[in-house]
Amino acid sequence: MSNLTINQDRLWASLMETAQIGGTSDGGIARLTLSEDDKRIRDWLSAECAALGMKLTVDEAGNMFALRAGKRPDLPPIAMGSHLDTQPTGGKFDGVLGVLAGLEVLRTLEAAGYESEAPLMLVNWTNEEGSRFSPAMLGSGIWAGVYAPDYGDARSDVAGDTFGASLDRIGYRGAAKAGAVKIGAMFELHIEQGPILEAEGVQIGVVQGVQGMRWFELVLRGTAAHTGSTPMNMRRNALLGMAKVIEGIDGIARSHADAVGTIGFLEVHPNSHNVIPGEVRATIDLRHPSDAVLDQMEQQTQALVRAAAAEIGLEHRLDQISRTASVVFDAACIAAVRAGAQAAGFSMRDIISGAGHDAAHTAAVVPTTMIFVPSAGGLSHNPAESTLPEECAAGAQVLLEAVLHYDRQRAETRRGVTA
Ligand SMILES: [Zn+2]
Repeated sequence: MSNLTINQDRLWASLMETAQIGGTSDGGIARLTLSEDDKRIRDWLSAECAALGMKLTVDEAGNMFALRAGKRPDLPPIAMGSHLDTQPTGGKFDGVLGVLAGLEVLRTLEAAGYESEAPLMLVNWTNEEGSRFSPAMLGSGIWAGVYAPDYGDARSDVAGDTFGASLDRIGYRGAAKAGAVKIGAMFELHIEQGPILEAEGVQIGVVQGVQGMRWFELVLRGTAAHTGSTPMNMRRNALLGMAKVIEGIDGIARSHADAVGTIGFLEVHPNSHNVIPGEVRATIDLRHPSDAVLDQMEQQTQALVRAAAAEIGLEHRLDQISRTASVVFDAACIAAVRAGAQAAGFSMRDIISGAGHDAAHTAAVVPTTMIFVPSAGGLSHNPAESTLPEECAAGAQVLLEAVLHYDRQRAETRRGVTA
């Protein structure tokens, strides 16, 4: 235990103060990436970091990195952070909590005069949400080398405005090259965006990784014919085939622990009450923490579609339209979070992230993990998003304990190596 306690009231005051920037009348935040409001929150963060004597570096994708010196400049910094942009119908906690809790950790250390071994860093990733410029997690993706900076610059919003032009307009295109800012480890605190922690009354989610995801488009083709004059035994009803597939996908997901599977989009042609559906288009969304299980689920889906089509005499086409590999977080970082939650006396459980996060990109490059705190009702991307002051504070306290635990452990290991 560090004997350092983060200031719950100060953290909450910062959350509520910054929620005004892009704040909406229904209590949410609409702070789209690289907008004027994004510039205002970035200016606010810059000023707060400067007040703590931290040195700010901005890279060419607008990612912000504020550095607090440690005793050992030879060690790469241990980073905390997340994103300050929101969805158009965003809440007050998604992303923001991870950045402001990191700031609160640094304020607490500064007030106590605590010196870490490695330097500590606070990060604000650009365009996590992807609602203005697709894809999501663009800034961290550019930092991690998944996307080229030129690709990022050329992303366009619906009005034809580009990521690069917007970055220049708000003055947050930094001089640092993508990936030039080195990080030794990354800890991202985030709201769960799901219902598990609240339902089980657990305070801290020790995140093990991010589940993999596969999306498919399925088209079933039969014959559009008159509903009154076509006997039941002479029909090729594409929607009936799709109904079997919908139920089958649900069954496939239920047959694997921790799997989810959904058909959430359906297009029926001609979609007329007295015509037998001749063609139906759907998307299938399969997710699981293990890519091997996803392979199995994919094979089962192919067999399911073949069987449903054969039974009714339909043609079928199944195309994969998106695929994200699962991410396994770093064991030493996870151990530090566990030790931190234990030291602070909070209940915890292992959990897998159902949503994508910047941490999924950083995990490919540096030791990374995440900490989850409860989301009321599992709600997110919604103005009603709610996490209590004491829940935010618990997350920040575990963040502090985890980072300092990791710092001490790594400094000891390095000393052992160099001695
Ligand atoms: Zn987020």
